[in-house]
Amino acid sequence: MYDIAIIGAGASGLVAAISAKKSNRNLSVLLIEALPKIGKKILATGNGRCNLTNLNAQTQSYNTKAVSYIMNNYSPEKIVDFFSSIGLECVADDESRVYPMSNTAASVLDCLRFEAENLGVEIMTDTKITSASKKNDYFEINNKIKCRKLIVSTGGKASTAQGSDGSGYPLVKSLGHSVTALYPGLIQLTVKENLKPLKGVRVKAKASLKLRNGKEIDRSEGEVLFADYGLSGIAIMDISRSVRDNNCKCTLNILPEFTQKDVVNFLSRAKKRNPELTLEDAFCGIVPRKVGYLIIKNAGLRQDVTLKELKNSDINLCADKLKNCEFTVTGTRGFESAQITVGGVCIDEFNLKTLESKIVPGLYCTGELLDVDAPCGGLNLQWAWASGITAGIDAAQSLTK
Ligand SMILES: Cc1cc2nc3c(=O)[nH]c(=O)nc-3n(C[C@H](O)[C@H](O)[C@H](O)COP(=O)(O)OP(=O)(O)OC[C@H]3O[C@@H](n4cnc5c(N)ncnc54)[C@H](O)[C@@H]3O)c2cc1C
Repeated sequence: MYDIAIIGAGASGLVAAISAKKSNRNLSVLLIEALPKIGKKILATGNGRCNLTNLNAQTQSYNTKAVSYIMNNYSPEKIVDFFSSIGLECVADDESRVYPMSNTAASVLDCLRFEAENLGVEIMTDTKITSASKKNDYFEINNKIKCRKLIVSTGGKASTAQGSDGSGYPLVKSLGHSVTALYPGLIQLTVKENLKPLKGVRVKAKASLKLRNGKEIDRSEGEVLFADYGLSGIAIMDISRSVRDNNCKCTLNILPEFTQKDVVNFLSRAKKRNPELTLEDAFCGIVPRKVGYLIIKNAGLRQDVTLKELKNSDINLCADKLKNCEFTVTGTRGFESAQITVGGVCIDEFNLKTLESKIVPGLYCTGELLDVDAPCGGLNLQWAWASGITAGIDAAQSLTK
């Protein structure tokens, strides 16, 4: 009989185990992981650098106000202090994104592992949990492991190769909790248009997601990366959570620094200066050549059209296509490639100060398994750490009382 068992040795499970043990060294804490190694996803985060929190993270950064108590209790600064207390120093970039000072995600996992081992957390790998039930005053998992408190930290169903395959949802459902509809989030969009010629081109743009009737449902600003299948980059990933079906359009304002009039003036000046110049060459002064090529195509003009051939209406049309470059979204790249899951176990069924279940006393859920999500920039890991620490401490303290 363990005092506390934690299912899933990812971001939130690891800090839950550490925090429980730090609260009371005498408790037996078991951390169970399906994969042969713990924390595999942490290594993949932030392109291998692990953007572990964001100093600007606040309740409003998330899809639900339910995180507010825990976010106030474990602010980004507190998370940075937590990591410092286990031997990991961090630095913030000029967008307030926090990374380990070593600039490598492996340091984050190493420090967590060393701390867990040092505190005496028992780690069991290669063990997938497929069942959980509550007996009188304890839990039984996989019909053999018994524990007094159970923390489920299995993540969502995004990026299955990193271990989170959605198997936490049926476990928590079997204990009486509800799960909302699930969608892939922070994911690339597939589009109808052929973007193969633009593969690899990056622009800073304003991205807007609209229903067919023109109603805007989401927007973001930042890097957009053209890919052979469609659109990627931070601005696209951030609006992807709102794609529910293939019934929407993604409009890019490719030149947010310029008004439509600025673009018209730019092209008119170029025409006066060098009327023999092709439009494609003129566009090189403000956008990557391949983007200029796309705009010319979208405006229905000849690719080799020269500036002297352009009527004022053509110039206006080009400016409009650049400021409102429209793509038909056919879907997303799916859970396999998604960074997070949108939706999850209903957080309102938990005590929002402790993350203990209101339905099954002694049960806790943490991290992405819950219906909590946020845009790119360290916010999802911030929630994973904050929720994991909260559950770990509460589970330990309730056994210590
Ligand atoms: C490629 C990529 C890059 C990312 N980069 C960032 C970033 O830079 N910053 C950021 O804030 N967020 C980032 N995220 C999101 C972030 O990693 C997750 O939100 C976070 O890891 C969620 O933590 P978690 O503890 O809830 O789940 P996870 O970290 O997914 O951990 C769940 C663990 O549980 C194990 N498990 C699952 N089911 C079972 C079971 N039935 N039995 C036993 N074990 C089980 C899994 O193998 C896994 O180890 C990224 C995600 C991806 C995929």
